[in-house]
Amino acid sequence: MQICPHCGTENLEGMLYCQKCGVALGPVPLSTRQLTEDDVHGGTDQLGADNVVILQVENDETPILVQVRSEVVFGRVTEQSDTTTYINLTPYGADDLGVSRRHARLLRDGKAVYLMDLNSTNGTQLNGESLPTSVEKRLRDGDEILLGRMRVFIYFKT
Ligand SMILES: [Zn+2]
Repeated sequence: MQICPHCGTENLEGMLYCQKCGVALGPVPLSTRQLTEDDVHGGTDQLGADNVVILQVENDETPILVQVRSEVVFGRVTEQSDTTTYINLTPYGADDLGVSRRHARLLRDGKAVYLMDLNSTNGTQLNGESLPTSVEKRLRDGDEILLGRMRVFIYFKT
């Protein structure tokens, strides 16, 4: 058994991503193209074959890898439902950085991923532009989002 570091669910040996929340259960090899400093916005808008996004919180060395089944909600919620994965950003300083309990969500539609602000207190920005609440914006590999004052870079795992 492998215990998911994010939600605590027990997974069968050999699983790469938690069957419950989709977060990677251990280190996953990444290509060197990803997570480099000089990556620019405007990469592909097509998610890779295994539907995995890489979330890199600014000033944190360990990326969060999530296999997006349908939607992923960023915030400070620890419980997981069957349809929604909550990425709990509390360990990354979410309280101090003004991240709401349910701040914003990623929604997957085929190979496309959309970002939507969930009427958060301090707002969401995509590549420096404020996102009106409840408006879906399609994401690209290398996009930068701001949840309150928490900066997160999003990469599509190829
Ligand atoms: Zn999990």
